[in-house]
Amino acid sequence: MQSMPRSMSNTREVQKIITVFLLVLVSHLLKAQEPAKIISSVFDEALTDRTAYNNLEYLCKHTKGRIAGSPAAEKAIEYARQALINAGADTVWLQKVPVPHWVRGNEKCSVKSSIHGKKDLSITALGLSVGTTEEGITAKIIEVHDFEELKTLGLKSIQGKIVFFNRPFDNKLINSFSAYGGAVNQRTMGPSEASKYGAIAVIVRSMTQSLDKFPHTGVTRYADGVNKIPAVAVSTLDAELLSQWLKTDSSLTIHLLSTCKNYPDAWSYNVIGEVYGSLKPHEYITVGGHLDAWDIAEGAVDDGGGCVQAIETIRIYKKLGIKPKRTVRAVLFMNEEMTATGGKTYAEEAKNKGEVHYAALESDRGVMSPRGFSFDADSTKLEKLRSLTSWFEPYNIRDFDKGGGGSDIAPLKALGALQIGYIPDSQRYFWYHHSANDTFEQVNIRELQMGSAAIASLIYLLDLFDL
Ligand SMILES: [Zn+2]
Repeated sequence: MQSMPRSMSNTREVQKIITVFLLVLVSHLLKAQEPAKIISSVFDEALTDRTAYNNLEYLCKHTKGRIAGSPAAEKAIEYARQALINAGADTVWLQKVPVPHWVRGNEKCSVKSSIHGKKDLSITALGLSVGTTEEGITAKIIEVHDFEELKTLGLKSIQGKIVFFNRPFDNKLINSFSAYGGAVNQRTMGPSEASKYGAIAVIVRSMTQSLDKFPHTGVTRYADGVNKIPAVAVSTLDAELLSQWLKTDSSLTIHLLSTCKNYPDAWSYNVIGEVYGSLKPHEYITVGGHLDAWDIAEGAVDDGGGCVQAIETIRIYKKLGIKPKRTVRAVLFMNEEMTATGGKTYAEEAKNKGEVHYAALESDRGVMSPRGFSFDADSTKLEKLRSLTSWFEPYNIRDFDKGGGGSDIAPLKALGALQIGYIPDSQRYFWYHHSANDTFEQVNIRELQMGSAAIASLIYLLDLFDL
């Protein structure tokens, strides 16, 4: 056989090398494109499917007022369990959680002035507060703006009166959560502080920028050893009116009735669904919201929306066949609103079982249009996490900032889990928060879906790149 000319053999070799090189290049390019393709398919799926919106509608309209320990909460637990099964979770289970059992009673409040006349005020009892007697209480009222002023007024001005905390949100603050943070101690600690000076009840201006008729509840915490006094929130419109009347009639009286009661602790559940990890099944990434909601609310933005977004992560992964390396857990926490025992129990059990918790994300800041995420990370880690922003550019999601995760996942920090908060636009959140104005109708399906897609995408990327 005639041997091949040397030049031809060389050409074949070069061709072979080029082919291998091209194959490697193409496979690298495909690999680099893969996350973009997957993220695109996650958004496509979230934006064209109504499951999350339908789940939210059910939670709002059929388990309204699902405060921990209530029959509505039990119904929500069963619905959420079934929703996770329907989403295709590899396993779904309930985790037993101790919860307080507080029940609202009759509530009524009116102001009487010799100058201005009489008017009913729109009020709602604060969670975990004690009630008045069945007859209610009648007393003079004194307006206060902070604890320093309370101290200056002292026992002689406060004793025997109802203290009216009326410091509004600072509307100059762009982040609504900062404005909330600057006002909320009136609600959480105001009753205890006022009690120290002999107040017999507290009325707190509702925690919202909005001027409207809705009273906004929320938990109050009595300090050890103080005399527990009844505490209610008043709508911002009525707070304004009360303040106006007080300017010209400091001797006006309030009649307050609130027959809420604290009962012995009860049992409830966190609802948990998992997609098993393909490479590191014993490392966990938690994605959660809280299933409980205030008894006067449908709990759409706080926090039914966060719950259905967590379920969506499971549904989307199963539908698209995304196989995370680590086990992804959707956790619908119970009792965030009163004493956060859902989050505490989850972290305690994780610790006892020796589980490795890689990261945890909470969606509990409403479900308006996504802005980005907050990370409880040092500057080096934050820089790495910011490398992910390019994947989100097509979706106008740009904010990767330093910040906390959420109260339910906070106890996981001790186990080393990276804390992540989902950050939607914050401007309207406190219009609804903890009030009867937090209804299904306030949620926009597109904004909810965009959030679900953003959360599912971030978890996918964190896991993929081991960030
Ligand atoms: Zn919440």
